[in-house]
Amino acid sequence: MADRDRSDYSRGNGMVRNSADLTISMKTEEATLTINEIYHSIQGESTWAGRPCVFVRLTFCNLRCNYCDTAYAFYEGEKMPLPEIVERVTAFSCPLVEITGGEPLLQKNVLPLMTMLADAGMIVLLETSGAHDISKVDPRVYRIMDLKTPGSGECDRNLWSNIPHLTLRDEVKFVIGSHEDYEWSREKMREHDLSKKCHAVLFSPIFGRIEPREIVEWMLADKLEARFQLQMHKFIWAPTARGV
Ligand code: SF4
Repeated sequence: MADRDRSDYSRGNGMVRNSADLTISMKTEEATLTINEIYHSIQGESTWAGRPCVFVRLTFCNLRCNYCDTAYAFYEGEKMPLPEIVERVTAFSCPLVEITGGEPLLQKNVLPLMTMLADAGMIVLLETSGAHDISKVDPRVYRIMDLKTPGSGECDRNLWSNIPHLTLRDEVKFVIGSHEDYEWSREKMREHDLSKKCHAVLFSPIFGRIEPREIVEWMLADKLEARFQLQMHKFIWAPTARGV
């Protein structure tokens, strides 16, 4: 499994360098995003699990995974100017922020938001379905990208052209609900040599649909270079709790 340096993101100085930058900056001041919720909790997934984290959940998703646990983010939300979002996030005095959804990449203004948060000195994570182009995301951002398994019902939405854009900062997640999902994930992982192309390949059981032990046993039998994970927050709080 490739290693990575998490201390390499740099704090931007927020300086406006020329008139083009000034125009971009003014546009950014006026730009908005539809936000479902902003809250402070423990990161429950990925290799960042266990760390205090601010979550910015964006409204809207164009997928309908049958195990989705954030359907409330499909439509609920309010428009918020980008500077206000940054202010709300930094007010928690927590260096880690995750941009999630819904599907955050559906709203194009999420790109300048992530840049603003990185410029503010934050470690920025992006959780995305993998159905949208990740190549435009600020390179300081750590991308956690799903590859939708057959059991999700949205397997044909995977954007395979994202694979060459993965870097050793990124993580790829397979959410698994059956042995068929496991086998599909294992084959896609091998076919695309994912353990060499990103920091971690995550195998995550669908909560309540499959015994975690089953996936672990399959991984051990296959000597798979993936990382098993549980959604930690679903064990700390009620599995359906919001804002945690
Ligand atoms: S991509 Fe995420 S938010 Fe959208 S339906 Fe699937 S699980 Fe839910």
